[in-house]
Amino acid sequence: MSLESLRKEIIYAGMQLKEYELITLTGGNVSGRDRETGLIAITPSGMEYNDLSTEDIVILDLEGKIIDGHRRPSSDLITHLQIYRAKLEINGIIHTHSTYASCFAVLNEKIPVASTTMANEVGGEVPVAPYAPVGSEELGDNIIKNIGKQKVVLLQSHGVLTYGKDVHRALIAAVMVEDAAKVYHLAKCIGNPVKLPEAEIKRANDLYQYAYGQN
Ligand SMILES: [Zn+2]
Repeated sequence: MSLESLRKEIIYAGMQLKEYELITLTGGNVSGRDRETGLIAITPSGMEYNDLSTEDIVILDLEGKIIDGHRRPSSDLITHLQIYRAKLEINGIIHTHSTYASCFAVLNEKIPVASTTMANEVGGEVPVAPYAPVGSEELGDNIIKNIGKQKVVLLQSHGVLTYGKDVHRALIAAVMVEDAAKVYHLAKCIGNPVKLPEAEIKRANDLYQYAYGQN
C-alpha cells in the first residue's frame, strides 16, 4: 500500500466513524503505519472528517518529525507514536469517545465478553488504562501495558482506543466494541449478563479470524 492509499484509507475510516456516530464534530483521530517506509500517517488536529483531502493527512516518522503535510497533526499524536514504537504488529490506531464504551471508561470498569460479537471482533475482555493527562508519556505507557490479544483499551475518564494489523481492523474493532458495550449495558439494566467462558472466546475468535468472510 502506498502512502497515498494509506491517506485515503484514513479519511475513509474517519467518515465511517461519523457514519456509525462514534465521533462528534472533530473528536477522535485515526492513524496508520506504512509498512514499506515505516512512516506514520495521522489525521490533522481539529478538522471535520468530511472536509479532509489526502494532503490534510500528516505524514511523520516515528519520532514525530513531519515528512509531508502542512497541517498540525492530531493532539494525540504522541500516544499513537508511543504505541507504534512499542508494538510493531500494530499498523492502525483509532481513538473515539463513543458513548456506550466510554461509559465504562468513566466508570473505570472493564467490558467483559458476554456476546459472540465481543469474542469475534474485539477478541477478549476490554481493560481500562489508568488515567493520565492527554498527551503525557504516562498515558501511552498505561495503554501499552494493557495491550493484549484484545483490540481495544479503554482510557479511564476519557474514551476508547482500538488498534489492529491495519486501519481497517482498528475500524472494525471501534464499531464492534461500541455495539457490544451497548448490548452489555442494556442487558445489565434488566438483569445479569452471562460471561462467555474463556475457551469459547478463543474458539469464536479463531473461527472469526480464519474462517469468516471471503478471504
Ligand atoms: Zn480523546
